[in-house]
Amino acid sequence: MQTSIQAIRGMNDILPAQTGYWQHVEEVIRRLVAAYGYQEIRMPIVEKTELFKRSIGEVTDIVEKEMYTFDDRNGDSLTLRPEGTAVCVRAGIENGLFYNQVQRLWYMGPMFRHERPQRGRYRQFHQIGVEAFGLDGPDIDAEMILMTARLLKALGLYEYVELQINSLGTAESRKAYRQRLFDYLSAHREALDEDSLRRLHTNPLRVLDSKNPALKEIIAAAPRLLDHLDADSRTHFEKLCRYLDAAGIRYVVNSSLVRGLDYYCKTVFEWVTDKLGAQGTVCAGGRYDGLVEQLGGKPTSAVGFAAGLERLVEMIKEVHAADFSLPPHAYLVLMGERAEAYGLLLAERLRDQIPGARLLMNCGGGGFKAQFKKADKSGAGLALIIGEDEVAQEVVAVKHLREEKEQVMCSQEALIALLRDYVLGNP
Ligand code: ATP
Ligand code: MG
Repeated sequence: MQTSIQAIRGMNDILPAQTGYWQHVEEVIRRLVAAYGYQEIRMPIVEKTELFKRSIGEVTDIVEKEMYTFDDRNGDSLTLRPEGTAVCVRAGIENGLFYNQVQRLWYMGPMFRHERPQRGRYRQFHQIGVEAFGLDGPDIDAEMILMTARLLKALGLYEYVELQINSLGTAESRKAYRQRLFDYLSAHREALDEDSLRRLHTNPLRVLDSKNPALKEIIAAAPRLLDHLDADSRTHFEKLCRYLDAAGIRYVVNSSLVRGLDYYCKTVFEWVTDKLGAQGTVCAGGRYDGLVEQLGGKPTSAVGFAAGLERLVEMIKEVHAADFSLPPHAYLVLMGERAEAYGLLLAERLRDQIPGARLLMNCGGGGFKAQFKKADKSGAGLALIIGEDEVAQEVVAVKHLREEKEQVMCSQEALIALLRDYVLGNP
């Protein structure tokens, strides 16, 4: 016997029993982005490695150790996209989307990071990403956060998450702060771990992003970036807070929230939960006014967020007993060759006449009992039973499989009416 081949660690099949949850989340997302006037953009999964190095930052977890990078046959270094913002910016510049116009864009799809697989952390995972270009005020930041709040509410997760916000200021205001932070962290050098020691010199703000619990207290007592903001960033942040207050959105200001990518400035935010163990962030974003220019475009303000679909799905499963499977409305039990030919065409007619009807036809014959067993297992609500007699009389026997109800004999017209009602009642 051949040995079987297995999937790559951290890259999961999403099986039929799970896809109902995914379709539900995806549908909620499609309605959400439409409600805010965002347009979909579809981008490649592979890009030049340089794109991510230049945007995400050399001294970040992603670029230092998480990218799937390989040489193309012609020697170019390529990378499976670890996130979507850089790709979206590359696509926007290349296609002239940012030229004197506002763009509100969204995308959904797989991302790849070579991390240690665990609950809520995978090597292939999926994100919904939303980005707005050409707007620099706190109003769009507020709208973006309201949008994420609406998403979490629509998924029934809002009461299990907390919104954390912070401002990173401009690159200039960060420079002065960086020195203070460096001095503070240097004074605690002996308590830092290996990663943090290295980053102390290359990018000390990254130390604030450390997930090492041993560093929690040192980070909490560090000088606050918020206390060193430039005037413009301060006003921007205050206005954002006022918008959120007015909209009734609860939040906490977390001064050590810096996000894992270098391109952010001013507003950053994360929605966190304690329902997913160590992987607490379900949705995160912020402003990145410098990125378009950094990647070769004209200076363009930008703000966006990304949410991990695996974490949303896992949270829904954790906090709700919801069932998103869509069983067939009816199963066609067909006895004998004539009934099989008749049933095939009848099912087509029913699908023509009743939008949304889900019909499962018994294929491959089998006895009455065996067919009913399959009908039951399919989860169908009705069995449509057709034998030689029913074909001759052009009728169908309808049996309710989940309710105590009399079996009824229907003409085709009566069947269409009955099934239409049933589909309306069980969408
Ligand atoms: P974390 O702090 O959990 O590593 P991150 O800051 O690296 O997250 P982002 O790059 O901001 O994450 O990505 C946005 C969202 O994508 C995260 O909030 C999370 O929901 C999801 N996400 C990120 N990495 C993974 C992963 N490896 N597996 C599953 N979901 C992920
Ligand atoms: Mg990460």
